[in-house]
Amino acid sequence: MAHVVVLGAGLGGTIAAFQLRDQLGAEHEVSVVGKGETFSFVPSNPWVAVGWRDRSSVEVNLRPVFQSRHIGFHSQGAARLHPCERRIELTDGTSLSYDYLVIATGPELAFDEIEGTGPTAVSHSICRIDHALQTKAAVQKLISNPGPVVVGAVQGASCFGPAYEFAFILEKALRDAKVRDRVPMAFVTSEPYIGHLGVDGVGDTKGLLESQLRQNHIKWLCNARVDKVAGGLVHVSEFAEDGVVKRTHELPSSFTMLLPAFRGVAAISGIAGLTNPRGFVLIDKHQRNPAFPEIFAVGVCVAIPPLATTVVPVGVPKTGFMIESMVTATVRNIKRLVNNEAPDAQATWNAVCLADFGDSGVAFVAQPQIPPRNVNWSASGAWVHAAKVGFEKYYLHKMRTGKAEPIYERLALQALGIEKLKEIKIEDPGA
Ligand code: FAD
Repeated sequence: MAHVVVLGAGLGGTIAAFQLRDQLGAEHEVSVVGKGETFSFVPSNPWVAVGWRDRSSVEVNLRPVFQSRHIGFHSQGAARLHPCERRIELTDGTSLSYDYLVIATGPELAFDEIEGTGPTAVSHSICRIDHALQTKAAVQKLISNPGPVVVGAVQGASCFGPAYEFAFILEKALRDAKVRDRVPMAFVTSEPYIGHLGVDGVGDTKGLLESQLRQNHIKWLCNARVDKVAGGLVHVSEFAEDGVVKRTHELPSSFTMLLPAFRGVAAISGIAGLTNPRGFVLIDKHQRNPAFPEIFAVGVCVAIPPLATTVVPVGVPKTGFMIESMVTATVRNIKRLVNNEAPDAQATWNAVCLADFGDSGVAFVAQPQIPPRNVNWSASGAWVHAAKVGFEKYYLHKMRTGKAEPIYERLALQALGIEKLKEIKIEDPGA
């Protein structure tokens, strides 16, 4: 009998636990270590921040769901991982031992790296539900007392889609409140060009997003390093292609929202052989850590090298479908190990993304995520907004019912020619 523990109950961790429960026999134990009792659907946070969603509509109480799936749940959080002892020390001083561990701890938000950024400083955040609710109060203040706005993603950020989403969603919320005419807006990004998204663009994301910014009267700055946010100003250095500062800007801002750089969480950082200097988990092509082969990792906590040298550092995004593909590969590999077989599954790391703009949006499929690609497609339209709402409802339904992946989803993805695993074809259990 094996005990498989999943550390982290976010997007990757919950799906991993459900899939492990589906794939491993009842004689094996599956447990989850989370931080708190609830799952929160992070992609809805831009909507929460403008009041289009409330907390209860995007959260799921995990305990009854895990209970119904016979998955153990420890919601007190991990204080420290002790991989040499195959043990997680929990915050209440107790410990949980494992035979196999899936790390899915997502990001720690590195707001402390730039003065004045983050929800305890001057700028706002949408990365967590609590931040988004705090941001909602600031948006309401902005509506009652309009002034200039700066939205964007800082140096080292990897999650650009939500920055664009929030800029356009806020723009719509301000239009709806009839104060947009009193709010000059700027988009500040470390990307070398608009629509780069950390992956050198997908299809014509450059053209689509530039056009959208122009149509919505949002000015932009690329190759931008945010130096600090203070005194009603966002201090930015704009770099030229040769890496020298071309110009410095002091952008007036009554409301600032900046996506931060990410790093690994404290419970796993600084463990030799497990994590890189930034605290991200090192993995091989089977999602497995080379130094501790009983440890796998999925989601944002995984170390992925940046795409190429950019003037201002940018990271590679880890989006929902890509995370699910990491989970599917990991679960198959753990099942094989439990059955004394060698891991063989590799995630495809395709990026399938819907970026919502409130009344329209941009969708893209990058297959594989790193160019050159076999599929390099992007498109825009009102249908993207509808699709994103559908994605949210469907995902939350999956969480509430404890389902890893109903067969119709798998078939729909295969119909699009998008697979979660390389080399190994998933068998259709219904066939
Ligand atoms: P998370 O979902 O962040 O989960 C990590 C979990 O680990 C959290 O619950 C955390 O509390 C827990 N944890 C951390 N430390 C500990 C500890 N010590 N002990 C126990 N638990 C711990 N991707 C898309 O594909 N589409 C989108 O529309 C999209 N929108 C996004 C919007 C925003 C605002 C952001 C920030 C990201 C978005 N992403 C989107 C990217 C990505 O899909 C999400 O960030 C996703 O939540 C990442 O999943 P994860 O499992 O890696 O991390």
